[in-house]
Amino acid sequence: MSELISRLQQSFRPDQLLIDPIERMIYEADGYLIARQIPSVVVFPESTGQVSELMQIATTHNVAVVPRGAGTSLAGGCLAIDEAVVVCLTRMQQILEIDLENRFAIVEAGVVNQQLNAALTGTGFHFAPDPSSAGASTIGGNVATNAGGPHTLKYGVTSNHVLGLEVVLPAGEVVTLGGNHSEQFDCDWPGLFVGSEGTFGLCTKATVRLTRAAPAVATRLAVFATLDDAVSTVSAIISAAIIPAALELMDQGMLRAVEQRYGHGLPTDAGAVLIIEVDGLSEVTEREITLIDRMCEQGKSVEIRKAETPEERISLWKCRKQAFGAIGSISTSFITQDGVVPRTRLPELLREVMRISAHYNIRILNVFHAGDGNIHPILLFDERNQQQVQAVLDASREILELCIDYGGTVTGEHGIGIEKLEFMTRMFNATDLEIFREIRSAFNPHLCTGRGKLIPSA
Ligand SMILES: Cc1cc2nc3c(=O)[nH]c(=O)nc-3n(C[C@H](O)[C@H](O)[C@H](O)COP(=O)(O)OP(=O)(O)OC[C@H]3O[C@@H](n4cnc5c(N)ncnc54)[C@H](O)[C@@H]3O)c2cc1C
Repeated sequence: MSELISRLQQSFRPDQLLIDPIERMIYEADGYLIARQIPSVVVFPESTGQVSELMQIATTHNVAVVPRGAGTSLAGGCLAIDEAVVVCLTRMQQILEIDLENRFAIVEAGVVNQQLNAALTGTGFHFAPDPSSAGASTIGGNVATNAGGPHTLKYGVTSNHVLGLEVVLPAGEVVTLGGNHSEQFDCDWPGLFVGSEGTFGLCTKATVRLTRAAPAVATRLAVFATLDDAVSTVSAIISAAIIPAALELMDQGMLRAVEQRYGHGLPTDAGAVLIIEVDGLSEVTEREITLIDRMCEQGKSVEIRKAETPEERISLWKCRKQAFGAIGSISTSFITQDGVVPRTRLPELLREVMRISAHYNIRILNVFHAGDGNIHPILLFDERNQQQVQAVLDASREILELCIDYGGTVTGEHGIGIEKLEFMTRMFNATDLEIFREIRSAFNPHLCTGRGKLIPSA
């Protein structure tokens, strides 16, 4: 390792390397706090050339690398398995081009999602993927995990918004996948790379599609006495063939946590609320929101709050977006699960989640993308208490197994990382997994990046 570090010191300035063990400790985990491993060194490249050089050095020294953006992964994707070198791309933060005429932007991988949208303010365009971590997570991380968000229901996940990528392969070769335009006549290489969680190579630049802001938008917060009423209304809305831009659910525990921390005036006695948004042409939006209001009433909604101004809309969304921040004030640690089931099985699944919560004596709050059937039970615990850690792992496993049993899957958007590796053999057969390995091998034959993640070894 000392040889590797000496070599890195020849190519990188001291402020681009973290060698001191205390400083490296900051990078021992990401948002999945249950697994920790201190990296052997953390490197902050500032250009594609430096990423390429770094990959050549690591490959020559036979040391694995782990790409890292903001480290908000909730699946342990940034864990430095085998004391890998962490390559932190957050200093590659330039927005290189915004082309409104052709509706694309070219950004470096370390650009924060919200930073891109801030640069687009006033243009009438935006980058549609909006993970709740948008204030921190990077475009490179969004690409690697194929991130979704509240507006995924209508606008799709990150792969629907990536036109081209610049990628550094494990041996240091720089390749371009895709291009700048929607109409491309090559294979969909970006489609293959997006969601590969750093196991194919490192994304250094992305050309992303810009979406025109809808001319009209209507947002509601519908309050329900019970969780069941809220979930049944979700199914009613979708089966009426309306695809809202967003359809999010927060349960009572979550409402109380947000209210206690931020005091938005949320109804803390409610069983659940739905945050519903429709957008599009004003006539269509008007018709759809009127229908949705009616369906909420038929679904026994006790109150419907309407956002009458853009400020009120932002305020309604803040209730949702601050959910994770609120948890920090009520629990020392938490993990967020991410499973998907067919929407019609949501009521049953949520009842099971609450049974599991009682069984393991672990408090669980729910805030999730109900329209997608994508649940996010948040399990609260104290990481210093080993019994609680074990209970959280067991409860999580039980929830995810139920998702599979109900015809769903173990991740809607957070990815597999290290956390869900064990489920891959339940979800895919030996042939599928072998095909995955062969594809990875075409990019990364010696597992120089993303070792121990996403695809289980044979
Ligand atoms: C509060 C909170 C809310 C969240 N809400 C959502 C949500 O609504 N939707 C959602 O999808 N996710 C959500 N997440 C999960 C997480 O934010 C996303 O997965 C996000 O895309 C990760 O971006 P990042 O920059 O933090 O990447 P990191 O966490 O740093 O990395 C994530 C994975 O991508 C790889 N990687 C990172 N950068 C690169 C790169 N340039 N090239 C190759 N591989 C790379 C890493 O090795 C790792 O496997 C949330 C997380 C938190 C903490």
